[in-house]
Amino acid sequence: MLRDAIRSLAEAKIAPYAAAVDEEARFPQEALDALVANDLHAVHVPEEYGGAGADALATVIVIEEVARACVSSSLIPAVNKLGSLPVILSGSEDLKKRYLSPLAKGDAMFSYCLSEPDAGSDAAGMKTKAVRDGDHYVLNGVKRWITNAGVSEYYTVMAVTDPEKRSKGISAFVVEKSDPGVSFGAPEKKLGIKGSPTREVYLDNVRIPADRMIGEEGTGFATAMKTLDHTRITIAAQALGVAQGALDYAKGYVQERKQFGKPIADFQGIQFMLADMAMKIEAARALTYQAAAKSERGDSDLTFQGAAAKCFASDVAMEVTTDAVQLLGGYGYTRDYPVERMMRDAKITQIYEGTNQVQRIVMARNLP
Ligand SMILES: Cc1cc2nc3c(=O)[nH]c(=O)nc-3n(C[C@H](O)[C@H](O)[C@H](O)COP(=O)(O)OP(=O)(O)OC[C@H]3O[C@@H](n4cnc5c(N)ncnc54)[C@H](O)[C@@H]3O)c2cc1C
Repeated sequence: MLRDAIRSLAEAKIAPYAAAVDEEARFPQEALDALVANDLHAVHVPEEYGGAGADALATVIVIEEVARACVSSSLIPAVNKLGSLPVILSGSEDLKKRYLSPLAKGDAMFSYCLSEPDAGSDAAGMKTKAVRDGDHYVLNGVKRWITNAGVSEYYTVMAVTDPEKRSKGISAFVVEKSDPGVSFGAPEKKLGIKGSPTREVYLDNVRIPADRMIGEEGTGFATAMKTLDHTRITIAAQALGVAQGALDYAKGYVQERKQFGKPIADFQGIQFMLADMAMKIEAARALTYQAAAKSERGDSDLTFQGAAAKCFASDVAMEVTTDAVQLLGGYGYTRDYPVERMMRDAKITQIYEGTNQVQRIVMARNLP
């Protein structure tokens, strides 16, 4: 029922704008409005803070179905979870009440600020600093590649509080867009997910009350990594959605397109491609939903499973969307058909929340 409801909504209110959002590289406001109106913009927020209280699998299905229509739009529910999960996992009751309720209502979005210009895969090499000053911390630094920067009201920012201790000297904070000293870079010009704003976040002597720290001092990096264990599954969901969208489109196209006097779907070479695409998607879906169940239960092998789901599903998304372009021939290579956008959008799922090389490092360190 959940899937049917989101699919109808996505087809009616999100898919019609997907091409324009990509072409104009603009924020998918129509998608945000539709998701907020239907309480689907941040479904993971627990009911006690006014949220829908969706479990990890339900959240995956929401993101998957939105991504099937428009990957840029699927970053709304996905990054709202990524940005706010550190507060849910490690924040004080006061922080949860203060920041989760506006998120649940749709009055504010949440971003996640881990990466920096010189600290990507090696995120613990970050330079952004937070220095204690009485009852406050003063933050200085640059965060890079921040999804929904400028649109979000709230930012979970990881910053160094003790440079001697490397990852154990990093703490997490909630920073607000309106805090004096917060500003944003120009939007990045990207290959895909062009509707999702990616900008730098500048922190210039940003003075925030000490109670905005998430958890204890020095626990920020652990919280950031624990967050990714859960949210990599939402990237798998995006990958799954875009792959399914490309397969569904190609499936229809090959029945209409005629060459050599018959629909190209009649050729076994085409049928085998479709069979492989569907087989890979089903395998990715099984792994992703299994990882979502493990996320919900907090199973001890979640780190491996989350990385495996993200890595496998995103590789599948890249293969399937590339094959979908192939199935449409020259038409697939143009922006008159959606599979070209889907192929460009799929690529990011192999890169963010840790590249697929990094996922393999994570898996190798946590072999079952
Ligand atoms: C559109 C977009 C949105 C993003 N959104 C966010 C966000 O909201 N918040 C946020 O904090 N970050 C975000 N990111 C950042 C993203 O997570 C990083 O880009 C990613 O982790 C890779 O870091 P990097 O770009 O610095 O690449 P690098 O770390 O420089 O990697 C370059 C290459 O080297 C490889 N590599 C690095 N180390 C190793 C190793 N040990 N072994 C093998 N290969 C290795 C990588 O796999 C990659 O292929 C976003 C990025 C993009 C592009």
